[in-house]
Amino acid sequence: MMGLKIRRDDQVMVTTGRDKGKTGKIVRVNPDKETVLVEKVNVVKRHSKPSQKHKHGGIIEKEVPIHISNVMLLCAKCKGPVRVGRKFIENGAKKVRYCKSCNEVLDK
Ligand SMILES: [Zn+2]
Repeated sequence: MMGLKIRRDDQVMVTTGRDKGKTGKIVRVNPDKETVLVEKVNVVKRHSKPSQKHKHGGIIEKEVPIHISNVMLLCAKCKGPVRVGRKFIENGAKKVRYCKSCNEVLDK
């Protein structure tokens, strides 16, 4: 893993594309493809065939992963998308992400 700046459960804002400006929680990160799945972002509707579970089939909504460069981490303090840096704390014992705008540590 290359040390992606986005992790599961992060709150992010979409910065480009159809869902630009939308915010959501990271559901899944794919480090190989460098994509993320964001809750309720890039939702597509698909027709599903009837199955055991859905006897009549129907339309299902499903999120499609977007590239990691299309999202920015939200800083709770700045209340907006921010650039993320990394630094060591606790005498180098721990590496954390921090907000480059307000220096708030983003990893709890
Ligand atoms: Zn901040």
